[in-house]
Order: sequence, then C-alpha cells, then structure tokens
Amino acid sequence: MVIDDKPHDECGIIGIFAPNEDVGRMAYFGLYALQHRGQEAAGIAVSDGTVVRQHKDVGLVSQVFTPHSLAPLTGHYAIGHTRYSTTGSSSLRNVQPFLIETRHGPLAMAHNGNLVNAAELRREVLGRGAGLSSSSDSEVMTMMLAAAEGDTWEERIQQTMPHWKGAYSLVILTRDSVLAVRDPWGFRPLSVGRLPSGGHVAASESGALRTLGCEAIREVKPGEVITLSQSALRVLQALPLAAHPLARCVFEFIYFSRPDSFWDGLRVHEVRQRLGEELAREAPITADVVIPVPDSSVPAAIGYARLSGLPYNDGFIKNRYIGRTFIQPTDSLRRQGVALKFNALEENLRDKRVVMIDDSIVRGHTSGPLVKLLRDAGAREVHLRITCPPIAHPCFMGVDMGTYDELIAHRLTIDEIRSHVDADSLHFLSLEGMMRALGRAEGYCNACFTGVYPIELNTEQTKTGFEKAIA
Ligand code: SF4
Repeated sequence: MVIDDKPHDECGIIGIFAPNEDVGRMAYFGLYALQHRGQEAAGIAVSDGTVVRQHKDVGLVSQVFTPHSLAPLTGHYAIGHTRYSTTGSSSLRNVQPFLIETRHGPLAMAHNGNLVNAAELRREVLGRGAGLSSSSDSEVMTMMLAAAEGDTWEERIQQTMPHWKGAYSLVILTRDSVLAVRDPWGFRPLSVGRLPSGGHVAASESGALRTLGCEAIREVKPGEVITLSQSALRVLQALPLAAHPLARCVFEFIYFSRPDSFWDGLRVHEVRQRLGEELAREAPITADVVIPVPDSSVPAAIGYARLSGLPYNDGFIKNRYIGRTFIQPTDSLRRQGVALKFNALEENLRDKRVVMIDDSIVRGHTSGPLVKLLRDAGAREVHLRITCPPIAHPCFMGVDMGTYDELIAHRLTIDEIRSHVDADSLHFLSLEGMMRALGRAEGYCNACFTGVYPIELNTEQTKTGFEKAIA
C-alpha cells in the first residue's frame, strides 16, 4: 500500500566478502539499513566457495528473513537485494538476486537501476534460444554475462558492459568471488568499504557500510568493476571514465538517500539543509513557523528556518510504518488518505502563518490533503515550498515517477498546482538554486526536471514500456 506522493527508487544492493564473518547475517543487517530504498521484496544469495544458496521472497527484510531461513546461508561470499519494482512487476519471479548455473559455475546478480534498451536486449537473448523466467531486465543482464566470452568474470563483465545502456549498479556473486559494478554514467550510487576483521563490503549507500562497521569507504567509480578481496581491492576501470558524460541522479540528494550517507563526496543531510537555504533566498515569506513534511524534508526545513530567521517546529507526526504495510486498508480508512500516515499538531499550528517544506510533488495527490490537515488544525495561511523544480518528465533510468499523464507538473502550471493543493503560495526551487545547493553545476542527471535525457531514448518509451514490450 502506498500513501505518499514520492518518487520510488527500485532497489538497495549489498555485496560482501568476509573470510572471518557470518556473511548471511551481515547481508541481512546491510539490507535492513537499505530498507528505505525498496519495500516490496528482499533476497540474499551466499556462497561457501562450493555451493550457492539463496532465499528470497516478497515482503520487508524483517518479514522475508527469519533465523530459520537465514540458517542455511553460510559462507564467506554474499549478495543481497531489497526491491521496489520498476521494470518487471512485483511478483515473486522478479525478486532478486537472480541465480543461474553457467558453464563457468554459479552466477547470481542483484541490480539497482533500469536499462533503457532492456526490451531490445531481451529480444536478442530470446532470439538466441535462451529461456527467461521473469520480466526483469536484471535477469537479461545475468543471461548476457553467462554467455559472454572471456577467461575471468572481470573480462566477461567488461565485454558485456558496452551493450548495457542505462542505469546499473550491480553486485555479482560467483562460486568464489563478489564483484561490484557501476555504469559509466554513474546514475545510481555504489560504495565500497573495508571490514576491520578482513574483507570488503559494497553497498548502495555509505550509511549501510557504516552500519556494518566498514572503514576506508569510497565510491565505486563510474565504469569500474571491483572484485572484493581480503586486503587490497582488485580494481578494473572497465569503461573509460570519459566514455559518457556523468549523470548522477540528483534525486539521491533530494529524497532517496539516507541523510547520513555520502553521495558524490557530499553528506546528504548537509545538501538538504542548503536546499532549504536556497529556497528561503528564492521565496521568502512573512510567516510564523516553518514545518517539514517528515522525514526527508526535515533538514531542508531547518535550512529554510535558519536563513529566514523564522522559528522551526514540528507540524506533523508521521506514522513511519504505515506506508510499508502490505495490508490494504478498508474503504472507510482509505478515505482517510494521508490521515493514516500523518497527524497535525494543533498547538503548533493554530492561528499561525505556516511555511510547509516538502522535497517534491510528483502526482500531486498528497500535498492538498496535507494542506487541509494544517488548515483543519487552525493554520491561518499555508505557504508551500518545494526543494526541487517541478517534475514534468518521467524517469527511464529506474525511478518510478509515473508517466507524463500522471505527473501533475506536466499537466498544470505552477499557479494551477497551487490552486489544486489550496496553498496560499507555492514555490519550487529553481534548477540553478538546486545545483547551487549541491555546489556543482555539472555531472548530474536532471532529466525529470528538464526533459534533457543523458541517454538517447526510444520515443515510444514509457515507464511500463518494457513490460508491454514483453507481454
Ligand atoms: S530522471 Fe530524475 S530520477 Fe531519473 S535518474 Fe535522472 S535525476 Fe534521477
């Protein structure tokens, strides 16, 4: 059940080589730290150097894994995945990792991202007579690796990477190795850190590496293939850094990443505070209080309040777990809408002119109910400030923002959106303001705001185009 209006990333991934540790349980806690990146399904595959075993299912990490299901996952090599579906529906057959037997031994892969040429690659794989068991682009990638030529997995990956167009941060498990791979555009994050007890971990976010006690954390560079090892990492720059313009996803800063993670060397929490400061510079207003829509907008609201000199306070209390239930609410509860997730704090709002900070408006179905909650709690005025520009274009690189028709900023002008959500004023941070908060003008994907995609797309492409193509 989804009761929010946020873009959804599809995955968190983790890869571990730990010669002195219980990797199954490490992978479990690593996935736990990445749960915010995907709540539909989870899986872990482990090798003891001879046999690869895995367990995966739909549900939260804490629902999928029990002491009983983790017990057989013993060994020193592991990969794990927590999923929000974009390409491929959310059925069990699409749950990762994908594990297959190849002529070179077992091969398992977990993938964060989306290939823009997935439908074409799928037709090629099927055309060679291979069978596929899912509708996921990640399985196609696994099958392509299995068929690749080369003496080592590094060589096979290097040979296959030029065929993959789009976003892919990968962890790959073989019988006796774990590899971390990042696409040459650098769309999705992937970092690697050293375990104090020996070995290394790769994970979508540095916050998860810290959870596992890692040191010497660094990003996997775009185009790199890194083999995790006991001491020094084996690093291959499989595609030259200059092969493609860098296109890191700017939404990692705005919404996806944990605030304690680093992305492109910047602490996410600090960038979010600066986004709030830029908003206060661009759109000041006379008001009594600044409140965040919890949780991701908290740092930006702090930044807005700090620069504007207005008091910061809580306006909403959020039930952090309601958006992650698989039980559908009854009709009467569904009519409650955002009230299932947020309650307003009347004492902080009554007779106040309120600045409400939110990170984004996607389809536009929660901002209006949130404004209404504030008004019902006695707010005299509600001024909405958004920490990114209007999202007027879909993402084809693995973030579920909906289709053109679903995006409210594609259909309505800013003033029409203001009227739709019943705010007294509305301001979206400008592209320039957003990039100023990052401190960098280049090297990022901004396509959902600008419509300028860093990769050539099939014009027929839609969010569900891949699934339609294979239906
Ligand atoms: S289009 Fe938007 S969400 Fe997608 S990769 Fe680019 S910045 Fe990220």
